[in-house]
Amino acid sequence: MRIYCCQNHVGQGLDEFVAKTESYPILTELSESEKLSTKCDYCEEPGLYLVADK
Ligand SMILES: [Zn+2]
Repeated sequence: MRIYCCQNHVGQGLDEFVAKTESYPILTELSESEKLSTKCDYCEEPGLYLVADK
């Protein structure tokens, strides 16, 4: 499972990840090029972080 989130939705992304996968989330900051092409899963802001299990 992969969740992209902006600064405002990092907490929400982490909570959702733990609730759905029951595993420990790893938060990764996206590269500059990924930030430009990725949107937050919760709003229209650019994605800054990826929540995933590896
Ligand atoms: Zn957002």
